[in-house]
Amino acid sequence: MRIFDPHIHMTSRTTDDYRAMAAAGVRAVVEPAFWLGQPRTNPGSFADYFDSLIGWEPYRAGQFGIRHHATIALNPKEANDPRCRPVLDLLPRYLDKDGVVAVGEIGYDSMTPEEDEAFAAQLALAVEYELPALVHTPHRDKARGTERTLAVVAESGIGPGRVVVDHLNEVTVAAVHDAGCWMGFSIYPETKMSPPRMVEILKEHGLDRMLVNSAADWGHSDPLLTRATGEAMLAAGFTDDDVDKVLWRNPVEFYGQSGRLDLSDLGPAADTFEGSSIKRGGS
Ligand SMILES: [Zn+2]
Repeated sequence: MRIFDPHIHMTSRTTDDYRAMAAAGVRAVVEPAFWLGQPRTNPGSFADYFDSLIGWEPYRAGQFGIRHHATIALNPKEANDPRCRPVLDLLPRYLDKDGVVAVGEIGYDSMTPEEDEAFAAQLALAVEYELPALVHTPHRDKARGTERTLAVVAESGIGPGRVVVDHLNEVTVAAVHDAGCWMGFSIYPETKMSPPRMVEILKEHGLDRMLVNSAADWGHSDPLLTRATGEAMLAAGFTDDDVDKVLWRNPVEFYGQSGRLDLSDLGPAADTFEGSSIKRGGS
């Protein structure tokens, strides 16, 4: 089983996690920029964090044979802090970098006017830099948050096929499916979404535009739940090819739209997808 985790915060994980992920079949990851627990007080903290997402963390992942890419943004939670707003001015410099495959995480936390403004501004950057966008949906009032998210996406002019709306559940998946956006699911040990529930969603809504991630952030989380979801799919009667589509080819297709996904030299199994703009040979 080859696995591409399309949303995982490796900054909060250890080398033991990298080792276990590699053993479980994880060959590639995308790490979205997000909050760091302790609130940041100035844009310089973000610049150092962004640099580590495109420099240090790919190096750390590489030691375990895992290819690491990043998405860059001012996250919704910190978009509410006036001390952090100037981060928006830092973004263009990072959105030009090779290892950056999307703008994200953007979207809503508490659905404030400040979040509205940062969300719209960053969708405009995604259009300008021809990058996909990774959109976080709020954990409270999720249905209303998702509805408003889809309205803002539609208004922005970005193609729905270049947007993943993440952290979905049984209640929110249908609207995102119908809007033509990609559907992201964060599988957690206790909350949000479990492998068996994910399998039911795949049975009902199909495998197209589906992205399964472990998020693996500061809370109780498990970077091997992508693998557990693949096993649960097989146990439910899905084929190896179905699992490969959800856990590998879908994220390659979505982030491949950046033109910057580099999966070269990952071995023969990882370079067989046709039709994406993956770079081949060289780095
Ligand atoms: Zn996240």
